[in-house]
Amino acid sequence: MNFEFTPLLTAQAPDVTALVTHRGFNACCYAGADVASAAEGRRLIARHFGVGDDAVFMPRQTHSARVAYAGEDLDGVDAMVTGRRGAVLCINTADCLPLLLVDTVAGVIGAAHCGWRGTVAGIASRTVERMAAIGADPSRIVAAMGPCICADCFEVGPEVAAFFPAQALVESPGRRPHVDLGAAVSLQLVASGLWHESIARPMACSMHDSRFHSVRREGRDLSYRTLTAIILNI
Ligand SMILES: [Zn+2]
Repeated sequence: MNFEFTPLLTAQAPDVTALVTHRGFNACCYAGADVASAAEGRRLIARHFGVGDDAVFMPRQTHSARVAYAGEDLDGVDAMVTGRRGAVLCINTADCLPLLLVDTVAGVIGAAHCGWRGTVAGIASRTVERMAAIGADPSRIVAAMGPCICADCFEVGPEVAAFFPAQALVESPGRRPHVDLGAAVSLQLVASGLWHESIARPMACSMHDSRFHSVRREGRDLSYRTLTAIILNI
């Protein structure tokens, strides 16, 4: 399996290690991929971070706004938080926005799968709330966003656009509305107490940048997912 990746958060948060995998890597077992190869992807992640397989936490995402602590049941969960060093939080995406959060002073991290449904349901805010419940201070949290569909590519119908604030929409006459998912998540994080300056916008567009997987570009049958992972260094 091709295991290439881009590091994230290296400058902003030296106490964590985070990465985004490139096209050809997969550890997601519920999108139609071969289970054995997804398990291999998971082992590669564990080995890369120097932890056991049981320290890799990967939810079965359903576009919900449910947040869990690493170690709780992760079925139907779309975000996780932990204060445990050595726990790897993993999010799988292919156009949705993978969000990583860290308060290095408190030693608390979070990872969330922000699709448009989860975003509208407030998943970014809920993740910050759960981090605060175990000692994080929102004003200290630094946020990074992995590759997701950009506003140019994310055309939606008026019924979807209606859920979003004007600042997260790109509208022009005679054209269907477009959603800026990065802006929508960013607005939510600022409303939750993060500083605007502490939020890095999406690192790339998953549709424009073929290093990453995209359901819109590669088709609905795509079983591979881009993995975004974060660990509080041991
Ligand atoms: Zn794009």
